[in-house]
Amino acid sequence: MNVYDSQQIISQLTPLGYELSESLDAADLIIVNTCAIREKAEQKAFSFFGRLAVLKRKKPGLIICVGGCVAQQEGRKILERFSYIDLVFGTHALKRLPEHILNISTKRRRISDVEMDNEILEFPSAGSPITNGGATGFVTIMRGCDNYCTYCVVPHVRGPEMSRKPDNIINEIRGLVDTGMQEVTLLGQNVNSYGTKEGLCSFPKLLKLVSEIDGLYRVRFTTSHPKDLSEELIFAFRDLEKLCNHIHLPVQSGSNNILKRMNRKYTRELYLEKIDKLRKISPDMAITSDVIVGFPGETEDDFKATIDLVKEVEFDSLFTFQYSDRIKAPAAKFSDKITDDIKNIRLRELLEIQEYYTKKKHRALIGSNELILVDGFSKKQDVGSGQEEFEGIYWSGRTSTNKVVNFTFGNSFHEDDISIGKIIDVKIEKALLHSLLGKPVKTKPKPFEAQKEETHAA
Ligand code: SAH
Ligand code: SF4
Repeated sequence: MNVYDSQQIISQLTPLGYELSESLDAADLIIVNTCAIREKAEQKAFSFFGRLAVLKRKKPGLIICVGGCVAQQEGRKILERFSYIDLVFGTHALKRLPEHILNISTKRRRISDVEMDNEILEFPSAGSPITNGGATGFVTIMRGCDNYCTYCVVPHVRGPEMSRKPDNIINEIRGLVDTGMQEVTLLGQNVNSYGTKEGLCSFPKLLKLVSEIDGLYRVRFTTSHPKDLSEELIFAFRDLEKLCNHIHLPVQSGSNNILKRMNRKYTRELYLEKIDKLRKISPDMAITSDVIVGFPGETEDDFKATIDLVKEVEFDSLFTFQYSDRIKAPAAKFSDKITDDIKNIRLRELLEIQEYYTKKKHRALIGSNELILVDGFSKKQDVGSGQEEFEGIYWSGRTSTNKVVNFTFGNSFHEDDISIGKIIDVKIEKALLHSLLGKPVKTKPKPFEAQKEETHAA
């Protein structure tokens, strides 16, 4: 979501004549877009602010701004602590960013703006979509959150949940498709409750509207809250051809006691029931999740319940976090905190178990053909070591199930047949922990791909 916000910042400042700089040293304006979700992210932001002092000394005219959740949370305190920071702008102040920058550059004022309002930001205005020109992109469909999980800072720094109008979302996606985007990920803290407050269409209806956009090949979304995962959404996986075969469904804990204290509003049993229903509709659907270890009061039995759930579900992959206090979140005041040592031990155990299932899922794909949307080149570490047969350039893309596949050219495949945005059939030959390796195979285009090429050619 922060990537999307950063793109919005860029589109706000382009009319003022600013362009992206190659390096911090060359920049006249530095904007730090911060995240406060966990302690580590916040610490990272503060240590980065420290590094900026040298740059300001070298170039006194440099304008330094801090936005995002840490800005919203700390406000004026950031200006007091870092004398060289010019602007602190909160999560609802983005629309006033150009005005603030003008004021700073002309009047050399220092400004803190953390005012919140009840308006949804409508960005970008029609006709000027935000894009990085790639094959994949993100579109925010809602902001804020009303769920108040007791560990979480989001409702306190992003404000109440607000959904964008379907027309604006569709227009933004159409604009992105016109620039070459083929896969969109719809973003929100709890997309399952999209439109409910405002009486807009339901989330599955929105998915249907999005999937009707010509030239768009794939639709993804994140994040789903298990309590709001409806039957209608489960059926969308069966009915919408463009909807990818993957859901990220954060469980956080397998213990009912902890789920209650987290204010998650579902039980372990309800979560497992929803997983069953999803798998009945689509047996090979990839399911990923988030888990927090060491939430205040988490006993060995509570942790064991999480481990048992992870073993039962066999997630495709897991984002695992050690609980950390967030000052504005209620759990920071819970008394029965878990020590760092125990949190470390639990995290390691959980990671080890999940690694087994991730590898198992990856290995099961060896020998199969997967349709990949090519979105770039692979990073070196994804390739693994000692793979002589895979020497050369590695193209990279994702399966519908969101698994990263890196591949080189097969004998029967010509280099010109591959480019970013192409949909390619790849035979999976090797399973690594974070990715798969394969070779493209010549197959007949899928009916949808043939149709898509005609649409593009038209
Ligand atoms: N809206 C999404 C989550 C957004 S935050 C949802 O409800 O699933 C992403 C993840 O960060 C959360 O799922 C949670 O696992 C983790 N997280 C949030 N606050 C945390 C905290 N205080 N300590 C550790 N992990 C946290
Ligand atoms: Fe945070 Fe819970 Fe809202 Fe997710 S649903 S953003 S975890 S409060």
